[in-house]
Amino acid sequence: MATTEISYLRNELEIRRQRLLAASSQQATDGALRQLLDSVDAALLRIDNGTFGICEQCHDSIEADRLLCDPLVRFCLDHLSREEQRALEDDLQMAARIQRTLLPRADWAIDGWRARYHYQPANMVSGDYCDLIELEDAFLFLLGDVAGKGVAASMLMSHLHATFRTLAEQHLPLPALMQHANRLFCESTAAGQYATMIVGCASSDGRVEYVSAGHLPLLHLSTSEVQSHDATGVPLGMFSSSHFPTCRVKLEAGDKLLLFTDGLTETTNGAGCEYGLSRLKALATAHVNAQPQELLSACLQEARSFSADAKQADDLTVMVLHRTN
Ligand SMILES: [Zn+2]
Repeated sequence: MATTEISYLRNELEIRRQRLLAASSQQATDGALRQLLDSVDAALLRIDNGTFGICEQCHDSIEADRLLCDPLVRFCLDHLSREEQRALEDDLQMAARIQRTLLPRADWAIDGWRARYHYQPANMVSGDYCDLIELEDAFLFLLGDVAGKGVAASMLMSHLHATFRTLAEQHLPLPALMQHANRLFCESTAAGQYATMIVGCASSDGRVEYVSAGHLPLLHLSTSEVQSHDATGVPLGMFSSSHFPTCRVKLEAGDKLLLFTDGLTETTNGAGCEYGLSRLKALATAHVNAQPQELLSACLQEARSFSADAKQADDLTVMVLHRTN
């Protein structure tokens, strides 16, 4: 832990100590207050003797973000007491439930379009973002990947969800929507936090306008071929003044768009080799006429057999948009 953080925490502990002393002088018999005061004194002592922030079980560093939230913690995440572990698991399960409610309907369809997707966190919660927002005579599709994994990334994911849901109500043109979302994301997140994203607007006549903020290619499957469309701008949250050039594609009846996060293409096999974009393109080419659910299942099945069912290392999201007529 940095010296500035330690001195900040020492100051915090001194303030809490004064508060506890004031409270316990009024309620002299409160054992819980006494116990807390002892814990605060012990933490101050650990700062003085240089053992603050060291796990008492494994002697490794305790996670800095946890210490900043609670300077009294004495064990790293791997060595929590059973009670602490249960509380943490409950919190994570609740977070996972909330995250699932933010996803679009599994059988999503509107006039001329339907969508199928697969959303799979590597652990309890995901840093991937996946949404479909209906507008008048059009809809927005959004798929993104927040840098990092786990709880911190999942919090940014729900932040993105709220930002885009709110901005979508303003009926802004796509470049303006992205610029606003980017600025809000920059202003409300710490340095080094960013997200790659594809945001598109699809009309009922098959016209699609999209921006790709540093995200992996968007694949367009038509009856004869698969076209790959690369990113058009830098990730969201990197520079508050970013502009996001717009691209256009036209989908005929039966055409599909395939969107995915790196949990799919960066799946590795036993030799450490990545599944990669060229294998995915070959698979898409073999499935240009498949139904969306079929295409989705084929992607997942191939990635799974490529990795020989190894534990999923990264959050994984795949979305198929199908122009039906
Ligand atoms: Zn430990």
